[in-house]
Amino acid sequence: MNNNLGSFVVACNDQCTGCKACEIACFTVHNQKENKVAHTVGTVAIPVTPRLFLTKFEEQCLPIQCKQCEDAPCLNSCAAKAITKVDGTMIVNEMLCIGCKNCMLACPFGAIEMLPIAKNAQPVQQIGSDEVRKSAFKCDLCAELEDGPACVKACPHDVLKLMNLEEDRKEKSIRAAIALTLTGNL
Ligand code: SF4
Ligand code: SF4
Repeated sequence: MNNNLGSFVVACNDQCTGCKACEIACFTVHNQKENKVAHTVGTVAIPVTPRLFLTKFEEQCLPIQCKQCEDAPCLNSCAAKAITKVDGTMIVNEMLCIGCKNCMLACPFGAIEMLPIAKNAQPVQQIGSDEVRKSAFKCDLCAELEDGPACVKACPHDVLKLMNLEEDRKEKSIRAAIALTLTGNL
């Protein structure tokens, strides 16, 4: 039986200043090819569509993103089969998404947002309407990047961390075992 748990990015300290560097990095790496977003903010001609969402509460803020749930409610609720699980990561196909919002309702973390789609640096129109097509947007763990999540690298305060629960559990077990040895509680 394969017991590998999917990785996910999570905020691991309370030092977030709300600078949005993580959101901008996320948007940029996902739009370099088709929408040619690469250089300066002033050249961006399409709506900024990140896949993690800075969330403000009381005096603090933190970005929220997908936990890549093992039995993912978003995937299970998608009638259009626009969400698939690839190597433990839930991936949305924006061209198959019909914007029904079932996944938004189903996600317990508010980690999915409906945002406008762009292709070739132009908004994609709905058929038979002058409105812009929207799709579900969620963290895909930067699946196309070889060197890992852009948001983690962009944060100037090391707020974000890529969690591998198996590794984390092993580290904690080793620390606990060493502590038991040192305190003589064996
Ligand atoms: S891991 Fe990648 S896709 Fe997910 S929120 Fe961070 S930058 Fe965006
Ligand atoms: S880059 Fe870091 S400090 Fe800035 S908003 Fe994101 S998590 Fe907060």
